[in-house]
Amino acid sequence: VPLQYRISVGNRFARELPEMAVAWQADDAPQPRLLALNEPLTAELGLDADALRSPEGLALLLGSSVPDGATPVAQAYSGHQFGSFNPGLGDGRALLLGEVTDTAGRLRDLHLKGSGRTPFARGGDGLAVIGPMLREYLVSEAMHALGVPTTRSLAVVATGRQVRRETLLPGAVLTRVASSHLRVGSFQFAAARGDRGLLTRLADHAISRHYPETASADRPYLAFFESVVNAQATLIAQWMLTGFVHGVMNTDNMTISGETIDYGPCAFMDVFDNGALYSSIDRDGRYAYANQPLIGEWNLARLAEALLPLIAEDQEQAVQLAVAALETFRPRYTEAWLAGMKAKLGLPDDVDDSTASSLATDALTLLQDNHVDYTAFFRGLGSVVRGDARPARDRVLDVAAFDAWAARWLELTLDADAMDRVNPLYIPRNHLVEEALEAATGGDLGPLDRLLDAVTRPFEERPGLERYASGAPEDFGAYTTYCGT
Ligand code: AMP
Ligand code: MG
Ligand code: MG
Repeated sequence: VPLQYRISVGNRFARELPEMAVAWQADDAPQPRLLALNEPLTAELGLDADALRSPEGLALLLGSSVPDGATPVAQAYSGHQFGSFNPGLGDGRALLLGEVTDTAGRLRDLHLKGSGRTPFARGGDGLAVIGPMLREYLVSEAMHALGVPTTRSLAVVATGRQVRRETLLPGAVLTRVASSHLRVGSFQFAAARGDRGLLTRLADHAISRHYPETASADRPYLAFFESVVNAQATLIAQWMLTGFVHGVMNTDNMTISGETIDYGPCAFMDVFDNGALYSSIDRDGRYAYANQPLIGEWNLARLAEALLPLIAEDQEQAVQLAVAALETFRPRYTEAWLAGMKAKLGLPDDVDDSTASSLATDALTLLQDNHVDYTAFFRGLGSVVRGDARPARDRVLDVAAFDAWAARWLELTLDADAMDRVNPLYIPRNHLVEEALEAATGGDLGPLDRLLDAVTRPFEERPGLERYASGAPEDFGAYTTYCGT
């Protein structure tokens, strides 16, 4: 049976929100070649990996063959980019193929990135090159393995088309899977049009897909907003706990579902630094590591503004209700962050919050002051509990400060095995990512496959993987990341 009859792709977004969906076709790919296929995710979606590898499967992954019933669309949205509102964004180089129901009964978006210019492309070429698409694949799958909510990557297919960047580079399409592609910017789009009917339909669509329990609340749209606040506070706490810098937290890159989306200029820190920043275009450090919770809250204020007409008829009352809901962001963030830090430090459940909080913040100060590798230090703490302090202690120049901190910490009853289950050994370190992407661009997928294997089982120490657990060599230098590549 041909693949396209075995995959059922719906068009719910396109049907329910036609004002935000432009029917569009992906570009043809002259010479498709599969670079990465996510077999566990393929199975989760009820698809067959061998069928996806066939020419017909590649056509599906590229959008060049559209399954019956699907209506590929470019989604319209608005967004605040670096603080300035842009009403006319949208998928400039992406398409929503439609929704599939996975084997657990959940609705998942199938989405293409790099599939050609759309009416939202503005000055862009609508294309993507294999390095950045493999980078999104690698980092999103690492995030998933680390337990951080994220969009997923199903496949990367090289198109055979050359793409002009600084040089000519091989083009590719990433097939992305998400619980939806609704963003803060989607709501800003509906609000900016002043179309209350559209705004209501969008909110009802989002409630039904992500927070169905809020439909029966006294004030469903307020409850919906509270749910997004909760999901984003929890998500950003997890970014902070893993040392992840998103890099471009514009409101069009913040989901309603609470999944991480849009892996452009993101990176994981090696050395702990509150100011960590990698994006070539973020000159003011708006999206630096330590700013992420504040920016998350700022973005949610923009979502609240968009939702005000639905929150209450009386707009003064709507503002009061929205502000009160937004005020739950900080305590929720702190709670999620502290729970994560307690786990990373192996602290017992009954430790009081002020002890846990001062141990965590003092550890981070120690790391910041001594330029210590964040991931390796926390993983090393398991050894300290087991009686060998070196893996953590030897990383800190101010040994006396480490010893004073460790003495306070070791007074508590600590669980080293539990720590090893939450402190990863293997993350997508920037120097390894660059090495893997460079090799892949040159035709050698070996380094990428090995790095993927390490970071998708991040907590399990395995022989031969030592180099994946170490920071960048001195000569790697400062790391810079780019948008829209
Ligand atoms: P991003 O910062 O990646 O979220 O992208 C911001 C906006 O620019 C979105 O509307 C993208 O669709 C669009 N965009 C980024 N790169 C390209 C490109 N190469 N061609 C067309 N549109 C693009
Ligand atoms: Mg984006
Ligand atoms: Mg993007």
